[in-house]
Amino acid sequence: MKKIAVLGSTGSIGTQTLEIVRTNKDIRVTALAAGGNIDLLERQIREFRPKLAAVWSMELASELKDRVRDMQVKVMSGMEGLLAVAAEPEAEILVTAIVGMIGIRPTIEAIRAGKDIALANKETLVTAGHIIMPLAEENHVSILPVDSEHSAIFQSLQGGQRRALHKILLTASGGPFRGRKRSELENIQVEDALRHPNWEMGRKITIDSSTMVNKGLEVIEAKWLFGVSVDQIQVVVQPQSIIHSMVEYEDGAVIAQLGTPDMKLPIQYALYYPERRYLPGDRLDFGRLSEITFEKPDMETFYGLKLAIEAGRTGGSLPTVFNAANEKAVELFLNRRIGYLQIPEIIQACMAEHRNIAEPNVEEILKTEQETYEFIKNRW
Ligand code: NDP
Repeated sequence: MKKIAVLGSTGSIGTQTLEIVRTNKDIRVTALAAGGNIDLLERQIREFRPKLAAVWSMELASELKDRVRDMQVKVMSGMEGLLAVAAEPEAEILVTAIVGMIGIRPTIEAIRAGKDIALANKETLVTAGHIIMPLAEENHVSILPVDSEHSAIFQSLQGGQRRALHKILLTASGGPFRGRKRSELENIQVEDALRHPNWEMGRKITIDSSTMVNKGLEVIEAKWLFGVSVDQIQVVVQPQSIIHSMVEYEDGAVIAQLGTPDMKLPIQYALYYPERRYLPGDRLDFGRLSEITFEKPDMETFYGLKLAIEAGRTGGSLPTVFNAANEKAVELFLNRRIGYLQIPEIIQACMAEHRNIAEPNVEEILKTEQETYEFIKNRW
């Protein structure tokens, strides 16, 4: 019996993780953590019977405790709750499906406790990859990618020699505004940006896909996961989202992973790696597939991607600034406080303002995040 804990169980990745648990009889959930959706968390507790559950606020935790009084589950709150879920003694794998840098501390806690990490929470690697990857190695734990592109790269690397890896070809759909120029993006509304052509995801990552900031975060994530330089990662726009990413080896051979857009595949692969199992769902039908096309990313219009590459190349605390500025800018956009084009503008302004710290520790990373938030608060 495989035992897992899930951070962010009520979100898009979290609920899809639990769907996989539902369809496999040899996996159990020992701990769940969510932000504020206690209605769904209560239903999850009743269905999956974890020993431990955590919600962010103390008030909601006490309400949840009341609601599940008839169940054998401990309810905790705040960072203490997240850390306890991360290190829940029986779990072998922690699925980090939480959104934001709040995932850093619990991920570190889980690695120290010897848990493998099924990593969806890219912000953790983007901002603290220099801490997470060596710590994982030291503790002999695996960081298994859940992000579909990184899972595709990971799958394409199976059977090949890692040292013969020449280049990563990170595919991108290009988002809903592919092909448009900057002037055509001025009046983009929240509803337009939330309409992704191929993938159903959480709100923040859907906006990030439309600005291509998500691809930028993925470049930095790939740098840490696969131990390559940013310059070895090439972003390739593949609008149909059929090729989930590729690797090129020293001899020029390119290996790709293809499939229908379904996050359950990478989630299941991370949970059962190296085993492959049946997964219900659509299959690619090559008889009906008319075309797979490729384009170069338009880094002038979607210059959030260019800024991410710059942050990833520089390293240190700059990726934290990039990520924190984007997080805040997206929040402001979703709350209709700023226009769409201000998202990359804010990121650029924050990066220009920052004095880089070469090897930031966790406290410095979190301080940089707060300073970036403050800078934005005072200006926008
Ligand atoms: P969602 O917004 O759908 O879900 C986020 C989850 O995090 C929710 O369960 C939410 O709880 C929880 N959460 C937020 N804040 C806290 C907190 N303070 N304490 C505890 N839990 C909290 O996000 P996604 O599932 O889309 O994304 C999750 C991560 O996975 C992100 O890092 C994203 O970049 C990455 N990812 C997502 C993909 C996707 O297809 N969705 C693809 C690849 C990567 P609640 O709702 O209860 O408040």
